[in-house]
Amino acid sequence: MTVTELVKDTLDQIESDQKELNAYVTVDRDGALAQAKAIDEKGINADNLWAGIPVAVKDNIVTKDLKTTAASKMLENFTPIYDANVVEKLKANDVVIIGKTNMDEFAMGGSTETSFFGATKNPWDHTKVPGGSSGGSATTVSAGEVLASLGSDTGGSIRQPASFTGIVGVKPTYGRVSRYGLIAFGSSLDQIGPLTRSVRDNAALLNIIAGKDDRDMTSSDQPVDNFAAKIGQDLTGMKVALPKEYLGEGIDADVKKSVLDAAEIFKKLGATVDEVSLPHSKYGVAAYYIIGSSEASSNLQRFDGIRYGYRAEDVKSLEDVYVKTRSEGFGDEVKRRIMLGTYSLSAGFFDAYFKKAAQVRTLLINDFKEIFKEHDFIIGPTAPTPAFKLGAETADPTTMYMNDILTIPLNLAGLPAMSLPAGFSDGMPIGLQIIAKPFDEETMYQAGSAFE
Ligand code: GLN
Repeated sequence: MTVTELVKDTLDQIESDQKELNAYVTVDRDGALAQAKAIDEKGINADNLWAGIPVAVKDNIVTKDLKTTAASKMLENFTPIYDANVVEKLKANDVVIIGKTNMDEFAMGGSTETSFFGATKNPWDHTKVPGGSSGGSATTVSAGEVLASLGSDTGGSIRQPASFTGIVGVKPTYGRVSRYGLIAFGSSLDQIGPLTRSVRDNAALLNIIAGKDDRDMTSSDQPVDNFAAKIGQDLTGMKVALPKEYLGEGIDADVKKSVLDAAEIFKKLGATVDEVSLPHSKYGVAAYYIIGSSEASSNLQRFDGIRYGYRAEDVKSLEDVYVKTRSEGFGDEVKRRIMLGTYSLSAGFFDAYFKKAAQVRTLLINDFKEIFKEHDFIIGPTAPTPAFKLGAETADPTTMYMNDILTIPLNLAGLPAMSLPAGFSDGMPIGLQIIAKPFDEETMYQAGSAFE
């Protein structure tokens, strides 16, 4: 089979599913076929397992000459003039970019319902959400359209949709992957990562996108080892931690059972599992919404109707341009974050909110350090419940925010974490979360491979 044939089949399937699932903002038929043709002409390097494979990219990761909207009216017609670092790397490895996936507007949300382009549906049950914000990236993989996609995770946006759609999603260590070309939400929290059907594929794709990039000063120069090196290796003697807060109030009974079953599997494989405590995790969500929104309020200042993106018409003054453009261009959830963030950073409230949240962050980091003195990795649920109905949580933002209670602490601490399918509830998938030490993705993948 040629790459062109594979890409054509993939495009046909995506296009026939699109009306129902709405996983894509843009399907790049012409670009993908041109890339496929070029790869067919020069031939595939057999050592490169990803060469010629179609992959989808979340629509907040910029792609040269291909519309990138962040699912916002603000960027509805925005075509970037450069590629994000991760996109450069995919292209250099002959990975075919098939299109740009739907998401919550500017990655703010947990269900893909805040998209300007309408919600994406969960392929397991079309009346349910796929999670978010990387819901399109999760749906396209889960529906079998592509083997892999890229998402971004600021507070859970790769892991929670992976959990809701029964696939593998990884948020790498903060700094592992360059954020150059990722439309910034919370710069100290954002990471790009892969969504795949298997643990091994996930490790291999992370190997392609990871590494130091001088254009992102927070990207790390830690060596990029073979992340799949320990896949399938024996877990005998490994010490696993299970935080008691991760099985507390508000966690669905089937979700709890799946995690306890996973703990038994690890024990059978020769590991020990200890109950531990994360005493400050209960403050995680509050600290995240202050820090994440503060950073967002600053990052989103650039959308002013002057430089690029949407510009309101019929304006009378410069101030009018700003106010009307931002009022019309941003959706409600984005406005909510900007207001919350601006408030937390304002002179009179900085100490009470932003500074306090930053202090909580340090306490959380220390909780994890304590656990990792004695343990190799941590397990818990990814999300408190399986996927919920479309529309069920849109009325109350704080209910939606609680979806990420178990994923947010890892963004605040910068740790690598994975969600992988580990059970079912009423026919809907349940995700298990595996958390490792900073830059120890190898152990995370080794632990995950126990489930394949
Ligand atoms: N659901 C969380 C939020 O709305 C996380 C989003 C994300 O990780 N991008 O902020």
